[in-house]
Amino acid sequence: MIAMNDFRSEPAELRAAMTDAVRRVFESGWYILGQHCQAFEEAWARECGVQHGVGVANGMDAIEIALRSLHVGPGDEVITTPMTAFASVLAILRAGATPVLADIEPGSALLSIDSAKRCISPRTRAVVLVHLYGQLAAMDRWSELCSTAGINLIEDCAQSHLASLGGRVCGSFGRAAAFSFYPTKNLGAIGDGGMLLTNDTLVAERSRMLRNYGQSERYHHPVLGLNSRLDEIQAAILAARSRWLPEFMTRRRQVAQLYYTGIRNPAVRLPPQPVEPDAHVWHLFVVTCPNRDALAAHLLACGIQTFIHYPIAVHHQRSCADLARDPFGLPCTELHAKTCLSLPCHPQLSDEQVHAVIDAVNGFKG
Ligand SMILES: *Cc1c(COP(=O)(O)O)cnc(C)c1O
Repeated sequence: MIAMNDFRSEPAELRAAMTDAVRRVFESGWYILGQHCQAFEEAWARECGVQHGVGVANGMDAIEIALRSLHVGPGDEVITTPMTAFASVLAILRAGATPVLADIEPGSALLSIDSAKRCISPRTRAVVLVHLYGQLAAMDRWSELCSTAGINLIEDCAQSHLASLGGRVCGSFGRAAAFSFYPTKNLGAIGDGGMLLTNDTLVAERSRMLRNYGQSERYHHPVLGLNSRLDEIQAAILAARSRWLPEFMTRRRQVAQLYYTGIRNPAVRLPPQPVEPDAHVWHLFVVTCPNRDALAAHLLACGIQTFIHYPIAVHHQRSCADLARDPFGLPCTELHAKTCLSLPCHPQLSDEQVHAVIDAVNGFKG
């Protein structure tokens, strides 16, 4: 089976580095909020060109804490996309704010600026911009829209580690950015992990409080926070794994280029090429096909696993059916949910495996 992820084929050197990392934490005798978390916060913030990093328990909490640190909450509206991991929207609801769903662009499946503009109201306080599938686009336009409208731009970078546009790395464009280090992300832990990045010292301070029960100093709780900390073992693992990220990113880009040159099937539409080579880190390689379920079944019969990101748009979830949305509706999102399919695209794929996927896609009689 050619799988969507294959951690067990990772290089032996990386596995050894991870074992060493765990041993160092174990021997330190300090397991939560210690030197490994701090060192990784500083390293990841530096890598992304941002001043402050705050390690948290997962990507969803990073979004919630970013919103709460910016005082976005009850009565405030936050514009985001219905074509995302459910966590993007759940985080807004957990912060007590009101999500407003804007439609996506038909090609890239990224949030549509025109649709977002139609969603702006006097209560709009933030946009949670998801760099879906690992791609960055139109950041100058988003920055301009948010600054002229007086709206906080929050980047959801859970899928886009180190994607960059015009030499600027994602996470550095907004007031705050949220990263997930869930195992399958481009930089993943061996459990849950996340981080919030910001250049705003006050936001960083409030985030540090919020992740730790709202504690300012030992036994003092000026605000009601969460228990959402990045533990030492995950931080040490992430530091070790981050050294491999550039190489893994290069391999993902090679796989994507092989798909672009190899896949030729009129029934299968390839994703649009990134606006710049570095603007996509290929967390997911998502094609569209009118007969998506038949394509998935055909690939499975050829020994190829696929996933769908995402088959059920957020507003079609029972818990979110009443959410506010673009007055023009969400037609591009609804079509994408019916037609999108994610092909295997991870750093451990061999050229042979990639060519097996290409042959299988080309052999599909749509
Ligand atoms: C994975 C993901 C999240 C949530 O991250 P967790 O660490 O699982 O909480 C949020 N947004 C997007 C776009 C994601 O892909």
